[in-house]
Amino acid sequence: MTATAAQSPAAAIADIEQRIAAAAREAGRDPSAAHLIAVTKTFDADAIIPALEAGHRLFGENRVQEAKAKWPALRERYPDLALHLIGPLQSNKTREAVALFDAIHTVDRPKIARAIAEEQKHQGKRLKLFIQVNTGEEPQKAGIPPKEAAAFLAHCRDELGLEIAGLMCIPPQEEEAAVHFAFLAKLAGDLGLSELSMGMSGDFETAAAFGATYVRVGSAIFGAR
Ligand SMILES: *Cc1c(COP(=O)(O)O)cnc(C)c1O
Repeated sequence: MTATAAQSPAAAIADIEQRIAAAAREAGRDPSAAHLIAVTKTFDADAIIPALEAGHRLFGENRVQEAKAKWPALRERYPDLALHLIGPLQSNKTREAVALFDAIHTVDRPKIARAIAEEQKHQGKRLKLFIQVNTGEEPQKAGIPPKEAAAFLAHCRDELGLEIAGLMCIPPQEEEAAVHFAFLAKLAGDLGLSELSMGMSGDFETAAAFGATYVRVGSAIFGAR
């Protein structure tokens, strides 16, 4: 975890937030609608605390076990923080995930949706939920195929009673991200969903211009992993 970022994490967050707001404004969007998730995977509490001390409160992790090791102690010190799961969820980790996180961006199959519904009932919690869409239709990548998104959304809502806030995607690395962001925004609009989780270190401004309500940025804040 050598930090190669030129700025401190807190300064990088302030800079990126300004760039997100500017990109949203330029696209005619309300700049306050685009939120920055600071992705802390592989970074320990020492790296995260300066961002918390500077006032940032929205963070993302991609593994349940790693989050469990770091975040309960941080949450005790900063009770108003929000923690989002942005990585794949295995059904045997659902109980811990629902206990630890405030949002899950990776609802991508019926088995996981059902497990989340059961755990939310058990724990009396309601997380903010996103359906991950495999916009590039890559065989090795998680996410529901775009043409199955409407049926999966209906299943989540009607059969499981889940409230779904929006859609999430991770575009294929070798393709133009803007095409995928535009596609996800159109799909969300067609489905009547208002939230969009999209954009990472290399393309968060593009995502903000295309309607992201959450961008997920790690290395541009904390340095290379
Ligand atoms: C790690 C990760 C990010 C952040 O990636 P950076 O390129 O470091 O900004 C965003 N989304 C997901 C799903 C991730 O796993």
